Amino acid sequence: MELLKQRILQDGRCYPGGILKVDSFINHQMDPMLMYKIAEEFICRFQDRKINKIVTIEASGIAPAIMVGYIMQLPVVFVKKKKPKTMENMLSTVVHSFTKDRDYTVCISNNFLTPDDHILFIDDFLAYGNAAMGIVELVEQSGAVIEGMGFIIEKAFQDGGNMLREKGIRVESLAIIDNLDDCKITIR
Ligand code: 5GP
Repeated sequence: MELLKQRILQDGRCYPGGILKVDSFINHQMDPMLMYKIAEEFICRFQDRKINKIVTIEASGIAPAIMVGYIMQLPVVFVKKKKPKTMENMLSTVVHSFTKDRDYTVCISNNFLTPDDHILFIDDFLAYGNAAMGIVELVEQSGAVIEGMGFIIEKAFQDGGNMLREKGIRVESLAIIDNLDDCKITIR
């Protein structure tokens, strides 16, 4: 997606350890006009899939996911990173966080992810694919079906994309970063 690539080159910042900071338009301050266009692009790429629900993970996936849900007129459910005491029919799994370098339990209520659901998962970044694999696990527990996974930014040098595609999952990433060596952003 050309507009997104230009914005990453203009406003993205590299940090040691292969981290790309996009907090002036995606991760902290958000650009809703760009987010809307991102959502339209996801919808276009997955238009051949029959989807009835958008799933994401808090916090940064929520903004693009709600835009997609709004345009498609579909419900959006986000996986939580803290177990609420009051959640009914909880499904949970453990995910390793790349940016925080720690494990945490993620959960979703089986009330909102059921065997009738054909989901599109949306997130901001795909790195090693740990968060995405957590979603795969939760969806398997629920009996729902993953129709596709859409990421705003995929860091191709961290291999999560290969792992998901090898599992047969349809993955669409709107900007693919080939490397961040020497703090230079190389976009495919
Ligand atoms: P993964 O689980 O694929 O290794 O990492 C995905 C999650 O880690 C994303 O949901 C995102 O929050 C975070 N993440 C991974 N790499 C980056 C990065 O380079 N920059 C930012 N801002 N977040 C990242």
